[in-house]
Amino acid sequence: MSTEIASPAARLGERLAAAERTVLLSGQHMGPAERLEAEVRGVWAERASLENLLTRPGDFWDFYLPVAERIAARRPGPGHRALARLEAAGLVWAHVTQSVDRLHQRAGSPEVVEVYGNALSARCERCGERYGLGEVADLVAAAADGVPRCTTPGCGYPLRPSGTLWNEPLPPEAVSRAWELGGQADLFVILDSELRTAPMSLLPSVPLARGVPLIMVGEVATQYDRYAAMVVRSPSPPVLEAVLARLGLEPDPGAEG
Ligand SMILES: [Zn+2]
Repeated sequence: MSTEIASPAARLGERLAAAERTVLLSGQHMGPAERLEAEVRGVWAERASLENLLTRPGDFWDFYLPVAERIAARRPGPGHRALARLEAAGLVWAHVTQSVDRLHQRAGSPEVVEVYGNALSARCERCGERYGLGEVADLVAAAADGVPRCTTPGCGYPLRPSGTLWNEPLPPEAVSRAWELGGQADLFVILDSELRTAPMSLLPSVPLARGVPLIMVGEVATQYDRYAAMVVRSPSPPVLEAVLARLGLEPDPGAEG
């Protein structure tokens, strides 16, 4: 363990142990490793948009499905496992995430508020039926126009991803839950989130306005750093692993690796 991380990890561990209601906001990715390819990011705003889904659904799914399949193929990393272990040990009271890959849940995080939904399922907006990605792929392959449609008898409505699309409002129930949790926290920890996009960029101001300490862990500076009780300029996985070690907790061997 590097000394650069050891000391902040010790202080973070003490803070977590002392707090009663630590609310944690995790970013889209834990650390830098699993970002989408540059060419996908470049056209994401256009081809993965609600407008494209509504006007050119064949093109939308042609682009979106393989990206979602790559997201689904990701595996939880050491940071996901370390965080799940801290949650299991009762050191995190609530977990809000900006990730859409469900890796926290697969690593064992018991309850995660997904403010962007997730990329691993689709739903019918007419009858509410939900479809896993594999089912969607089968429906796309079987459709002459490449558009998956609801299989509920008498429905047949075109499906949409369960997750939030570019420029689309976030699911209101998840956002109000996140705000409610932010208002109850006595410690607020932000992991690997650049906090650039509203409304989520505003969430830390909820605990901050009540005088609740903020702890920022991540490689990128944010607008909240100067108000934070502690800033750890590092990707979160090695920090979380160091916190586990300081607290004498082992990573959960049963978690998916
Ligand atoms: Zn339907």
